[in-house]
Amino acid sequence: MPISRKIASSLENSSWIRRMFEAGNVLRAKHGAERVCDLSLGNPDVEPPAAFQAALEEVVRARAPKKHGYMPNAGYPDVRARVAAQVASEQGAPVDAAHVVMSCGASGAMNSVLKAILDPGAEVIASIPCFMEYVSYVDNHGGTLVMAPSRPDFDLDVSAIESKITARTAAVIVNSPNNPTGRIYPEATLRALAAMLGEAGKRIGHAIYILSDEPYRKLAYEGARVPGIMGLYPHSIVVTSYSKDLSLPGERIGFAAVNPAADDSARLVDGIILATRILGYVNAPALMQRVVCSLQGLAVDVEIYRRKRDRFCSALSEMGYRFAVPEGAFYIFPEAPGGDDLEFVAALQEELVLVVPGRGFSMPGWFRIAYCVDTPVIERSLAGFERVIRKLGG
Ligand code: PLP
Repeated sequence: MPISRKIASSLENSSWIRRMFEAGNVLRAKHGAERVCDLSLGNPDVEPPAAFQAALEEVVRARAPKKHGYMPNAGYPDVRARVAAQVASEQGAPVDAAHVVMSCGASGAMNSVLKAILDPGAEVIASIPCFMEYVSYVDNHGGTLVMAPSRPDFDLDVSAIESKITARTAAVIVNSPNNPTGRIYPEATLRALAAMLGEAGKRIGHAIYILSDEPYRKLAYEGARVPGIMGLYPHSIVVTSYSKDLSLPGERIGFAAVNPAADDSARLVDGIILATRILGYVNAPALMQRVVCSLQGLAVDVEIYRRKRDRFCSALSEMGYRFAVPEGAFYIFPEAPGGDDLEFVAALQEELVLVVPGRGFSMPGWFRIAYCVDTPVIERSLAGFERVIRKLGG
């Protein structure tokens, strides 16, 4: 046996997104890449802003001693300070450099935080549908992900989350704008969640963290505001990255930021820094820390995604697909016509269109479209969507 039983079993149950990627490779080899419409991956198609290229060139040209050396495990102090100023303005909380830990993307930040806060047997709650890597990230650190249903409009269902709380609950993950639904949770919902968790924490004798996973924060349409969790709840930690808003997923750069109002926030930050080191990342890549330092608050042109969203949504709703128009991120999450997401996804594959079945987000009966693709790909895919809804029924 070359690998552990656990990894062998995970390979068997590999993520649906990955499976669609592999199915796409088969279709591309057979029919030619230009005929396949791959709407399965959240890999941004909009190029990073021009300021990114300028900042990158400047950082590459700069000569400085130990430019490529180790730095403190939390990241460069000046980078942490610039990031903290941005987080403070978004979150309405007095975050400073001491509360920020630079990371390898949002997933690196989340793993460091989970390693720092989870004891064996701990539980972390997430609302479904959700990004399924959470299951593995929590499991990586000895915990279990507990899933709570969301409301029919995909807002958080605070009572459903409350019903999942036990003495072992360590954290609740909140992801807004949401992957896969595109929902932005209203401030009133987050206030209700905060109030409920405050009471629950007193009842079970320890604070329950809110882990706010925010890589899509800046991808919000028509001026929609993404409320900051830190102003609403003390025991909160933001994990995020520049993967989606600056289109840099391959550069693996992000951070965790701890609410200064959290109980013993300095110790929590120390724990996250240590976790980062002993997970083996040591720290976020040096070059990219320097580059994003000067790009705080910037994002790709969200109007590009807004136009793609509008084109897709109006075409799908004319065909009879049922879905909530996404308020942010670059995904649409419709009901699968006919009710069976696997049957629907298979029928769409015959049309050379790839989407992810809802069960890939723990929500069978639905499917996810990632519209972060060239507009001609969207246009080419539409005839397939039309034929499949006619075949399987609305
Ligand atoms: N969280 C959510 C909700 C995501 O959709 C993703 C990536 O798709 C991540 C985290 C991971 O982001 P990163 O690539 O910055 O690690």
